[in-house]
Amino acid sequence: MPLDHTRSSAEFARARNLIPGGVNSPARAFGAVGRDPVIMDRGEGPYVWDIDGNRYIDFIGSWGPHILGHRHPAVMDAIATACAKGTSFGAPTLAESELAEAVVDAVDSVEMVRMTNSGTEAAMSAIRLARGATGRDVVVKFAGNYHGHVDAMLVSAGSGALTLGTPSSPGVPAGCTNDTVVLTYNEPGQLEELFAARGEEIAGVFLEGVVGNMGLVPPEPEFLAAIRRLTEKHGAVMGVDEVMTGFRLAYGGAQEVLGITPDVSMFGKVIGGGMPVGAYGGRRDIMEHVSPVGPVYQAGTLSGNPVAMASGLATLRTLKETNPYPRLEELGARLARGFDEVATKHGVPHAVQRVGSMLTLFFNPGPVRNLDDATASDTDAFARFFRGMLDRGVYLPCSQFEAMFVSAAHDEAMIDETIAAADAALADMASDRT
Ligand code: PLP
Repeated sequence: MPLDHTRSSAEFARARNLIPGGVNSPARAFGAVGRDPVIMDRGEGPYVWDIDGNRYIDFIGSWGPHILGHRHPAVMDAIATACAKGTSFGAPTLAESELAEAVVDAVDSVEMVRMTNSGTEAAMSAIRLARGATGRDVVVKFAGNYHGHVDAMLVSAGSGALTLGTPSSPGVPAGCTNDTVVLTYNEPGQLEELFAARGEEIAGVFLEGVVGNMGLVPPEPEFLAAIRRLTEKHGAVMGVDEVMTGFRLAYGGAQEVLGITPDVSMFGKVIGGGMPVGAYGGRRDIMEHVSPVGPVYQAGTLSGNPVAMASGLATLRTLKETNPYPRLEELGARLARGFDEVATKHGVPHAVQRVGSMLTLFFNPGPVRNLDDATASDTDAFARFFRGMLDRGVYLPCSQFEAMFVSAAHDEAMIDETIAAADAALADMASDRT
């Protein structure tokens, strides 16, 4: 029985007239799943409610930030306390050092950190830093990895760009991407060849440590080892984009789980606890190239905003104190197992790929190791599955090429309810086929 979305539909028509596509970020558009988005009203713990009053179990968590669930009391209190003092000063505040200290404490490879307002800004700045610190221009990225809408990285990009079929964008001059080399994820041989030919030109190699933006794709150990060895040998920067994975896969991020030590890391999402924060950090000798210590310019009127810092700090402190990671691992594994069982039961070719609390059910027998594998998925089947889940009160990412996020506010009963919904949605899809 479809849910009533009357108000959402009417309001979305209004939004579409005022905002391109009715959304302020394309990943929110439901184009790939063949319906209009629902308009959200509020969230609490693991749930969100739309403006028609429908409740959903939320597996997006604002696309990652809400690892503690919506409206966590510690985060809400910290925001209220910060707001009471004023929202922005354009001058240093204690909260900036406190959050920086928390990041340095959490992530072994990070000795200094600079706050930004988004993951995109963090990635843009980290790339500029790699170029500025090495005096070289070429950056290497991997197809299907997404580093925000940074001009130099908007080639073969994942996430919304991939979902909407525009992995490279008009408006990005060729000059901005001439020095970007795109390689295949998990193919160390390509890196070996590139470094052998152009090693002295390469400023940095940037990757999602665990990819969320072509669906969940883990890195293979030989691939990571090749990146570290070749960047070290040729004096290039290894940059790990932890915007999705930072403080999520472990308190120390993907790099803790994978046992890697990048030179530079980028953060976003969880670091702001639902407020607009990004950050980039790394070894002191590299970070000291950043202005005003060094010549690599990067700035922001609202960077280090005290309300956003308070939200991020309360989130990180709660994560450190409560250590939800073993439980997130259990819940993630339970959900992955359940999806696998029901997809097998209904004869759906599939692969469930997961690291900790991030996972993707690919409509594709897998394994999905790179972008070509991911795009071989049956996106029509995903779209039907998505709609079936929405109608059953489960809010999933609206693209095959995204990861679901489990939060510490979910519990076993909700996971089992989600698996039961998947069973029913896949049963409906099977009966449509016959
Ligand atoms: N890097 C990664 C890995 C991301 O997943 C994202 C966003 O999803 C970004 C960068 C860009 O972050 P933002 O959307 O905060 O600009």
